Amino acid sequence: MSGPAAPVFHSRPTLGDEEVSALTAVIASGQVAQGPRVEAFERAVASLLGRRGGVAVSSGTAALELALLVLGVGTGDEVVLPSYVCAAPWLAVRRVGAVPRIVDIDPASYALDPAAVKPALSPRTRAIIVPHLFGLPADLTALQSLGVPLIEDCAQTLCATERGRQVGTVGVLTVCSFYATKFLCAGEGGMVLADDPALLEKGRALREYDERPALRPDAFNRKMTDLQAALGIIQVGRIGEFVSRRAAIAQAYGAALAPMGWHLPAVPAGRTHVYYRYVVRLPSDAVRLDDLLRRVEQRGVHCRRPVFRPLHQYMDLAGYPASEEAHARALSLPIYPALTDEQVRRVIHALQEALP
Ligand SMILES: *Cc1c(COP(=O)(O)O)cnc(C)c1O
Repeated sequence: MSGPAAPVFHSRPTLGDEEVSALTAVIASGQVAQGPRVEAFERAVASLLGRRGGVAVSSGTAALELALLVLGVGTGDEVVLPSYVCAAPWLAVRRVGAVPRIVDIDPASYALDPAAVKPALSPRTRAIIVPHLFGLPADLTALQSLGVPLIEDCAQTLCATERGRQVGTVGVLTVCSFYATKFLCAGEGGMVLADDPALLEKGRALREYDERPALRPDAFNRKMTDLQAALGIIQVGRIGEFVSRRAAIAQAYGAALAPMGWHLPAVPAGRTHVYYRYVVRLPSDAVRLDDLLRRVEQRGVHCRRPVFRPLHQYMDLAGYPASEEAHARALSLPIYPALTDEQVRRVIHALQEALP
């Protein structure tokens, strides 16, 4: 007897035999903490992104914090970031003692709205954290013209382009995450990338506390392990496969959902989308997002709000209409290379049935 089919999860890592062999080899080597594989992973990611070097750390959040420390951002400084993002960038800014300046997003791309950034700048602004959300680059050209150092947050977006430039090559620093269900999986992990050797050197020094000439209260352990790096190296080698499978799933969703009235992800002129997330907006006001999420879940399909809660709502700030609207109407469908065609059909079917 066959029971009900297993649920289609919202996100899953894509792992196989190659990853198993790589981990087995690390264990057999006896060198499991930070070692030669971390260095090889740093070179692989730097080369993928087209940057001089990278400093691997324990998470994307640790990478954001390290990026701010490397730039010397601290007490009294201000850092601009969008409301519509996870809490990690806010947390990093607070941990270094700086003040987060939260601004609204561009409703079509979900990325920082350059027009909203401008009035938030002050003489104390030291950096802008620029998350490229869901696989789509932010408007790097407009943000760059503001003349403030950019920290590109590529936790969700690799190998996408803006006016022919790869994301991750434009900001003074770039930050990645290799959390289990990100574009590349290392279980947990992050990296800070840069072209300036002095910034990279500073990042390396702040990654670990041990064997220093003096005790430094700002030192810490932010290291990645060779176990994680071994997974990451295999995943970097599979990125072409990952990008094309995600594009194929996005195409299938688009073809099925457009006739049903769903608002599909926008791809502004001059940008490419790598579909880390497939985020659509409700086709009408006749259904509430929470009700719809419940109905598809009853049909064995897990969709999610792409952002748990916009930052301005945590902080009780008013005046973020685009982030409010995205939070009320946007939902993220399952999309990952391991998703099968059969599961894609089940997602589409569940969405069809769940609409009133
Ligand atoms: C996941 C994510 C982070 C944090 O990365 P962790 O590895 O989970 O700490 C930061 N920024 C964005 C945009 C993310 O999606």
